[in-house]
Amino acid sequence: MKKSNEWMMDYLREHNIKPSTIRIKVLEFLLNNRIHPTVDEIYKSLIEDIPTLSKTSIYNTLDLFSEKGVVKILALCEKELRYDIDTNSHGHFKCEKCGKVYDFPLEGNLIIKDELEGFKINSENIHLYGICKKCNE
Ligand SMILES: [Zn+2]
Ligand SMILES: [Zn+2]
Repeated sequence: MKKSNEWMMDYLREHNIKPSTIRIKVLEFLLNNRIHPTVDEIYKSLIEDIPTLSKTSIYNTLDLFSEKGVVKILALCEKELRYDIDTNSHGHFKCEKCGKVYDFPLEGNLIIKDELEGFKINSENIHLYGICKKCNE
């Protein structure tokens, strides 16, 4: 379901972010396109609406979002960062053929935590690489 402008403004305020046109547009894109987009993908989609947009302002917006817990930054490969609006713990599978990034749920016992007795875990990143079902057919 599409979120209203008011909903998005409230959502940003709840995360201590002052709503601005670009912040709302970037949030809207992330909510409506669950593709773990790159900055380039966000830029290409928003430039028509906001001709004054720069990639730097998207980077800055996403840095702020990440700092405030609105997005998670995924470093699935060295040269390309992706952004995930779903900040709940889940794993990612990247298809090496079509480049699509799939979400999958994690079960609590995936990591053998005995080895980390006494450690405090702040985030889990499970990244798998291979060929997706579609490309494998
Ligand atoms: Zn694929
Ligand atoms: Zn994800």
